[in-house]
Amino acid sequence: MNNLESISSEIREAIIESGGKEAFECYECGMCMSLCPWFQVGNVQFPCYRTPQNVRLGAVMASEEKEELAKEIAELFRCVACDNCKAFCPRHVDMGDIMRAVRRILAEYDSLPKELKDVASKFYNVGNPQGDAPEKRNDWATGLDLPIYKSGMEYGYWACCLPAYDARLKNIAISTAKILNTAKVSFGLVDTNVWCCSETLRNFGAEKVFKELAQRNVTAIKEAGINKILVTSPHCYTTFKNEYPELGAEFKPTHTVQLFAELIKEKRIVPQKPIKKKVFYHDPCTLGRQNGIYDEPRTVLQSIPGLKLVENPIFSREYSVCCGGGAGGLWQDWPKEERIASVRVKQVKDTGAEILATACPYCILMFDDSIKTMNLDIEVKDVSELLVDAL
Ligand code: SF4
Ligand code: SF4
Repeated sequence: MNNLESISSEIREAIIESGGKEAFECYECGMCMSLCPWFQVGNVQFPCYRTPQNVRLGAVMASEEKEELAKEIAELFRCVACDNCKAFCPRHVDMGDIMRAVRRILAEYDSLPKELKDVASKFYNVGNPQGDAPEKRNDWATGLDLPIYKSGMEYGYWACCLPAYDARLKNIAISTAKILNTAKVSFGLVDTNVWCCSETLRNFGAEKVFKELAQRNVTAIKEAGINKILVTSPHCYTTFKNEYPELGAEFKPTHTVQLFAELIKEKRIVPQKPIKKKVFYHDPCTLGRQNGIYDEPRTVLQSIPGLKLVENPIFSREYSVCCGGGAGGLWQDWPKEERIASVRVKQVKDTGAEILATACPYCILMFDDSIKTMNLDIEVKDVSELLVDAL
């Protein structure tokens, strides 16, 4: 008998209704657990495959002991939606969907971990995880003289909440704008009436808030007449491409690395200034494994004179290890010896790289933090920041 039979029918029904139907395809081989980045952390037990999760959910629902309950709930939020398990599961089980389903149930019971509840209310109240004023969304562009998108322009540029509001990350948006201007790309900023794409909300279970914010964005983008939307974050990219169509979105996203690679190919930008550094490119899960964009960022980096791209086929491209920032991981404060980002940084260090390049603001924050904690001398840069320095 399938172990799933042993959990209460109430929980079983709830998981199916919340989108975790694929759990029934699992035959419990355990491969996903050994591929999960938490397995590499070493001192963390995270049996992600479905039966333990269902049992754990049952334990959460049944528990009356507050501390134990909080611990059990926190464990269910370890999954960072990296899709490594899905990519290699012999039954193609989508663990991300199962985790979402479980978390949606917990959200219905008002049982999100405190950090995620706090961040969800910031999203709900002002439309960004930092809790900053919506009208300041384009303040990063002050002094750059960039227009708001209007009809006839080619791209609407969507900077993502993290570069829009974060002091370190706004340099990514600024670098992108400079590159686009150098290449004479026709673009305007998406106006400040949009809120976060809300990918992370959906992944950590706050489905109702996701739908509300996403619907608002779909309406605003349609009203602005934007058909081609250029994004900095792969989280926005995957949400616009794979999630928003169910809400009636008709616009197509382009990630900046895709456009940069095209501009280089067409010689609309020519990197000339050398960067004599060894660079490791980290494939963000949402760009690589989830959307197959592996070559474009490498094309951009390889076009920079003097730059030496160091790779390790064991943990590059589809074998990339997550930064740990997905599905709410960015806001969860795991002890420093329990961080996936540190596993990744250690791999990068072993390649001898001086710069860890990536194309995702979440990854940059996670790696910056781990590198600081590990006291290493590795710079973390977005592809746009390296490219602008080479022009
Ligand atoms: S790898 Fe797939 S089939 Fe095997 S336990 Fe994990 S989800 Fe189930
Ligand atoms: S999606 Fe990633 S973090 Fe979540 S269970 Fe699968 S491998 Fe682990």
